[in-house]
Amino acid sequence: MLSKKLAILSLLTAGAALAASKNLEIYWIDAEGGAATLIVSPSGESLLVDTANRTPDDRDAKRIMAAIEKAGLKKIDYLLTTHFHGDHYGALPALAKLIPIGTFLDHGDSVELARPQVAAMFKGYTDLAGAHRKSLKPGDKIPLKGVDIEVIMSAGQAITRPLKGAGQKNASCADFKEHGPEQDPDNDQSVGFLLRFGKFDFVDLGDLTWNYEQKLVCPNNLIGTVDVYQTTHHGLDRSNSPQFIFAIQPKVAVMNNGPRKGGPPSVFETLRKSPGLEDIWQGHLALGAPKEVNTDEKMIANLGPTQGCEGKLLTLSVASDGKYTLTNERTGFSKTYQSK
Ligand SMILES: [Zn+2]
Repeated sequence: MLSKKLAILSLLTAGAALAASKNLEIYWIDAEGGAATLIVSPSGESLLVDTANRTPDDRDAKRIMAAIEKAGLKKIDYLLTTHFHGDHYGALPALAKLIPIGTFLDHGDSVELARPQVAAMFKGYTDLAGAHRKSLKPGDKIPLKGVDIEVIMSAGQAITRPLKGAGQKNASCADFKEHGPEQDPDNDQSVGFLLRFGKFDFVDLGDLTWNYEQKLVCPNNLIGTVDVYQTTHHGLDRSNSPQFIFAIQPKVAVMNNGPRKGGPPSVFETLRKSPGLEDIWQGHLALGAPKEVNTDEKMIANLGPTQGCEGKLLTLSVASDGKYTLTNERTGFSKTYQSK
């Protein structure tokens, strides 16, 4: 009788473990103001969005690899480079030596090839990608099994039709104030996508700039509202306009800022005024903003300057019932939210 009970118990435990492994997992790798977001679908397939900075000690490649190992991956199925700036694909040559990469996704060629350094780095990318390169258009799907990922922005173009359930007129567009032209125009070309898993949704727009993010929400909101928003452009105020944030109304914002990049008080203010925002999580304490402007320390993965930083992760686990849990690797603090 006892052994039968034990057998049933172990079956139940195995079942629970299986259910847990069917979550969608997202890892925000701390790249000191660069970008690297690892997405692992319930099927076990992976999408790495951006590969952060090149440094002499391959710091970011090693940090990305540590997250890859934590996720138990043997390869990266899809690599999306949102745009061709060093803080988004600088660590790629080093990373590519550590793990096989399947398909290389991007917005098309860099628009800054007249700059010799950009051209040299971009050539390194195309050499590495070879025949496995695919440039994305708005409306394309990234075919990661088990989730639905639609490209909503690429090469300066937005989707022309609203996503399911979206398309409402955005009255706040009348107050939109355009910014001047971008000095580093490949930002404007960033690939942006919306990921759906059941009721849960997540949006990542790379470094898409203020004027270009409007294309997605003005005059009509083509995205609708979202659960989790990776603050665009590391939380800089060259992106993240009130018109955009108030349209998508994230429940949770994750800012992949660095100690000295991203997170000016104006962006925190916009986020906090956004209807329905519950929490802001940060990769780093923004040292340029007053401490009380930053979010609660328990939701900040790294507190100090770059030198000596341990590069702790923020992780997100999304269950198929729509509950999702964010965890700070530094403190162990976690919080669970319900999808809209
Ligand atoms: Zn960037």
